[in-house]
Amino acid sequence: MIQVVATIAEIRERIGQARRMDKRIGFVPTMGYLHAGHLSLVEAARRCSDIVVMSIFVNPLQFGPQEDFSRYPRDFERDRALAESAGVDLLFAPTVEEMYPQKILTTVSVAQVAEPLCGRSRPGHFEGVATVVAKLFHIIQPDFAFFGQKDAQQLAVIQRMVQDLSIPVTIVPCPIVREADGLAMSSRNVYLSAEERKQATVLYRSLERAKHLLAAGERRAAVIRKELKQMIEAEPLAVIDYVEVVHYPSMREATELNKGDQVLVALAVKFGRTRLIDNLISTIQ
Ligand code: AMP
Repeated sequence: MIQVVATIAEIRERIGQARRMDKRIGFVPTMGYLHAGHLSLVEAARRCSDIVVMSIFVNPLQFGPQEDFSRYPRDFERDRALAESAGVDLLFAPTVEEMYPQKILTTVSVAQVAEPLCGRSRPGHFEGVATVVAKLFHIIQPDFAFFGQKDAQQLAVIQRMVQDLSIPVTIVPCPIVREADGLAMSSRNVYLSAEERKQATVLYRSLERAKHLLAAGERRAAVIRKELKQMIEAEPLAVIDYVEVVHYPSMREATELNKGDQVLVALAVKFGRTRLIDNLISTIQ
């Protein structure tokens, strides 16, 4: 049976009990409105942990003032049932007041890695993410924590924070889970109208094109960027936020790609008010 816990004191108590029994703790942080992408992280967590802890917390710190914090989709009962059937043991679902009882004065900011791409489009976003993840790591003290490559820059930011601050947790990256037509699963997909949903497959189609270009020997990042932009612009409802090719995980801008380089091709595209991201990580052969 899944146990739902809403306070920091109680989750600490329960985790303390598990630790005293030498259990390995696997942690899956989420903002809820669960889908198969989240559940794949739980599956990965079950493979290497004795106790799987999931958090559901829509973190106001990582949303800008014009963003979708208040309308972000929420359905706790559905999430609880899905988490339970996926094998989550402890579900930590605190309120905003529990996590931030007073104005937060201490934050974690990761320079450079957090600056381009989503960091540029969403000022303060990664500081909000790094701060809440650092706080959750202190509360849960997991042995392993599972993050989706869907949010590749977030993963790079968290990895770097863990290295720089010597946080004793192993970060486990998990592959992107997609719908049958290639659209990356996201809680925000529910915002899309039928027509937007159709056109949104251009993200995956253009990443497939990038994969093909790289496999065919294209080494000029600018050529890849330009071709992907043209493909996306051909969809009338798509508004490009960015199309980037960067070195991964440094997130430094790429120009000429060389053998052995690990590169991230990353997209952020708006359909109406919905901003979608997707990416491809590839090692140059
Ligand atoms: P979120 O609830 O959107 O903050 O996501 C929580 C975790 O699930 C993050 O580590 C995400 O990268 C991961 N995630 C979200 N969507 C997917 C997906 N389609 N495939 C794999 N992981 C995902």
